[in-house]
Amino acid sequence: MNYITDDSKIQGQLLDRFIKYVKTWTESNSEKADSGIIPSEERERDLAKQLAAELTVMGLQDVQITPECYTYAWLPASKGFENKPSFCLLAHIDTVEEVTGKDVKPIIYPKYDGAVIDLQCGVRHDPEEDEALALAGQNRETIITTDGTTLLGADDKAGVVAIMTAIQYLVENPEIKHGKIEVIFSPDEETGHGMDKVPLKLLKSKFAYTVDGGHIGELETECFNAYAANVTFTGKSCHTGSARKGGMVNAIFAASHFVESLPVKERPETTDGYQGFIAPMDITGSIEKATVSLLLRDFTTEGIECRIESVKALAEAASLSFGAKVEYAFKEQYKNMKSVLDKNPSVVENLLAAYKESGVEPVFSPIRGGTDGSRLTELGIPTPNIFTGAHNFHGRYEWCSLNQMSKATDVLINLARKIADC
Ligand SMILES: [Zn+2]
Repeated sequence: MNYITDDSKIQGQLLDRFIKYVKTWTESNSEKADSGIIPSEERERDLAKQLAAELTVMGLQDVQITPECYTYAWLPASKGFENKPSFCLLAHIDTVEEVTGKDVKPIIYPKYDGAVIDLQCGVRHDPEEDEALALAGQNRETIITTDGTTLLGADDKAGVVAIMTAIQYLVENPEIKHGKIEVIFSPDEETGHGMDKVPLKLLKSKFAYTVDGGHIGELETECFNAYAANVTFTGKSCHTGSARKGGMVNAIFAASHFVESLPVKERPETTDGYQGFIAPMDITGSIEKATVSLLLRDFTTEGIECRIESVKALAEAASLSFGAKVEYAFKEQYKNMKSVLDKNPSVVENLLAAYKESGVEPVFSPIRGGTDGSRLTELGIPTPNIFTGAHNFHGRYEWCSLNQMSKATDVLINLARKIADC
């Protein structure tokens, strides 16, 4: 069923809501977030307050903003559906700091005709260079861009809008039966700290969905297995003048040799899709001690283990060549959520059924990074990611399709129905 896509009045409301949210400045700050401040900017609360007020008007239960700025609420199950599984919908309210999200002036192109769009600051949308935009033009979708001076913030306000509109629709149309639905709007996803203070005590659902993807159809159930590593070489310092032949062991040479020996075909800049990588991120050192920090990424368990072994082997080889001692330490950062999702197949099955009901062809795409969903999955709550209709995240070229956002909303409504059918 298409509830939103076929209803131009609700699409108008959806657009109004989107414009209102993107005009609310919620840029987060990674330096502050890294130092433990969540939310990293108090302005993130401005949107949290708007959302909490709207959820209260809709009649949701336990509406609250936690001290760390997570907006939480739940929609009671339809009468007679109280025993159906409860699930949670999540989206993040913050925007990246690389391009400002202050004073966003969205421009709406109703039934966009595929023409080149010239904006301020030399921003030019050319459908010939943007396949998704060309498609939106062919379909005469209504799109929203920035004016070129800021980002748009469709990442992830399009997700917030889809969730809010789906919930409102379910409230206003009680004939659509559903179980209990929890919602969480989180701060600081862009700083990598989105799940640091997620109110797990409030969250009762055993599975969840983030609404933070891109092009229509995208369905993300896989992310990297991720490790961070430190490789430290210890040398022997002595006066350069008296270092002749064997007196000195220079850890800097060992460290740089180690970095040089990392496989060229396994770098972030030489890989794509399902290929993993080993990325040196930082190098510091002196003759006595030199440390290389690395990130290791792979989609499979065997693959990530293999990369750990290869880092160890290359480090040992460099240490042997230069007579430096070597130590290494590996720290797991997050896991591919696929293994957990495979153990809970209904989470994705219901979502696929909802895509089908909404007439959306699913496109499985691996996430080359971690998401709030992967963090939650690791915490034991399987959480795939759904598209929003937003494109070209994190910059002035960001744009969003109202039609695709409407489809995402339909998917959420159909998802609620499917889960209640279980
Ligand atoms: Zn996002």
